[in-house]
Order: sequence, then C-alpha cells, then structure tokens
Amino acid sequence: MEHSTATPETEKEKRRKWILLIAMSLSLVALITSLFFLARIEGWLGRRNSTTLLTLVDTENAAPEDREQTLAFIDDEHMVDERCLSDLEQLLEYCRSAGFAPRVTAAYRSASEQRELFNALVERLMEQGSDAESAKTLAAKQIDLPGHSEHQLGLAVDLADEEEDAEKQARMQEWLSANAWEYGFILRYPEGKETITGHSFDPAHYRYVGQSAAKQIFELEITLEEYVSMFYSK
Ligand SMILES: [Zn+2]
Repeated sequence: MEHSTATPETEKEKRRKWILLIAMSLSLVALITSLFFLARIEGWLGRRNSTTLLTLVDTENAAPEDREQTLAFIDDEHMVDERCLSDLEQLLEYCRSAGFAPRVTAAYRSASEQRELFNALVERLMEQGSDAESAKTLAAKQIDLPGHSEHQLGLAVDLADEEEDAEKQARMQEWLSANAWEYGFILRYPEGKETITGHSFDPAHYRYVGQSAAKQIFELEITLEEYVSMFYSK
C-alpha cells in the first residue's frame, strides 16, 4: 500500500525536475547568446575607435580623436600604447646588452599636453621679440602642431643615452637605427627624407609599426608615408 501511494509522487517530482532542467538550460543558452552579441558589439566599437599600428600622423594627417586606447607605463613617468610595451621593453634590453644606457625621454602625450608644449614655445619666442604670426611659424618648425604629433598615438618614443656625452649619444642612435626594426620600431624621420615626412631629421624619435612592417621599411629604406602609400593606398 505504501508503494502505490509513493509512485505518483515520484513521477510528479521527476517531471518537475525535467521542467527545471529545461528552464535552466534555456536560461543558460539565452545568457550565452546575449554575452556573445555584447562581445561582438564591443569588438565592433573597439575596431571603429582604435588606431592601427600604421596610422599616419604628420603635417597633413591629424591624430584621430576620441579613440579607445589602453596605455601602460614603460617607466615611472612615461606611458605607451600597451600594444608596443613588450617590444619596447625588449628593444631597451637589447640596447643595454649592446653596451648602451637607453632611457625614454618622451612617449605618449595627450592632445592638451601637445597644445601646451606648442603654446609655451610660441610664448617664449614672442618674449624674445617675434610677433605672434612668425612665432607660430617658427614654433611649428621645432614642435609638431597640436593634433599632429605622433606622440599622441602612444606609439612613438624619443630615446636617449643616460650619459649625455655627445659621442655616446651618437653611437647609440646609430645602433638603434640599425637594430630597432627587429622589435618593430623604425627611425621615423630619417636624414634626407624631410620632404616626404615633412619633418626635420630626428635621430631620437622611434615609431612602433609592428615587426613585419618595420622589417620591410628598414630593408627598403623607405618612410612610413611611402610604405603606407605603396601597400595600403586605395
Ligand atoms: Zn618624438
């Protein structure tokens, strides 16, 4: 008698368990689907806002605004785009192993920092007697116009040897120009390419473009402007 009353209870319980299991599975599927779509939307937004490693910033092309960017510290005071952090660390290590003492003297700069730097120089030139117009023209020859500095991308660094001895400095710069490509960096403003880059020769300024592009740019002895127009222009 006890068994006959217990059996329908068990059946009911079984059914309830099945319903619960199906409900839970459906919720799980719904959760996974929403997460998947959320990730796709975020990925799409990220792609739209982020700059590529080959983004051109020069006198003609301004640094893209309101982009998503992750910065990381390379030392106590300088930050770079995290995509070049590991290669930069390895390049500095490689440079040290070659007998130099490299340090970063400039890295990421925000748009407002670039503007302040430029305006400060304009003011200094005006104090020295230039009128506003010629002070701006003169300043633009020494510092990139606000919005037009590669440092705003976080993909450029200025490198110097700890020892301020000019000869040591020159030897390290020479070493970098021959070896930086191995870690994805190029000498961005080489001598003799001023008309193409729109920038005077700068032996301290290195730009990260990734290892394969850096290798090609180094081997072909071309600038980023030439590389982009050779391989990526429409
Ligand atoms: Zn620089």
